[in-house]
Amino acid sequence: MSANSSSAGMAHPFDPDCIFCRIIKGEIPSFRVYEDDEFFGFLDINPVTPGHLLLLPKGHYPSVLDVPESMGPALLRGISRLGKAVMHTMNAEGFNLLQNTHEAAGQTVFHAHWHIIPRVQGDGFTHWPQSDAPGKERMQSIAEAIRALSA
Ligand code: 5GP
Ligand code: ZN
Repeated sequence: MSANSSSAGMAHPFDPDCIFCRIIKGEIPSFRVYEDDEFFGFLDINPVTPGHLLLLPKGHYPSVLDVPESMGPALLRGISRLGKAVMHTMNAEGFNLLQNTHEAAGQTVFHAHWHIIPRVQGDGFTHWPQSDAPGKERMQSIAEAIRALSA
């Protein structure tokens, strides 16, 4: 991994083998929808619904767990601006914000990114199937373990 420079002069980690790094650098074409000092957005090449876009840090961070926490406000700004813009553009009534972390969860491009997928009522996409809760004691021990590890 090496570093390149943004227009603001800040160095971002760059991976020459990463397709998203190459899109951000302009080596591979994309339909760009958003750019600030830290984040970049473009239309997904295989959209779930028209207007489906990806928001990603300009720097190469393989998964969301590698993205610096300090980038949180810029991420939220991008989500908010793009969410409103894509809903307006596509006459959508809502959107799904989706983030796949690691292969087991469906991540296929290992440069962290957030999907924004515009939705309308009755567009045919349903939510994931749910299951019954695994019992009070198990729920309690799961919650305790997560609470301890995330503190
Ligand atoms: P993931 O499964 O990693 O969460 O999502 C990767 C997304 O990147 C997919 O929705 C896929 O369609 C999109 N994608 C992969 N390669 C390209 C590309 O070269 N250009 C664009 N615009 N999107 C891509
Ligand atoms: Zn990358």
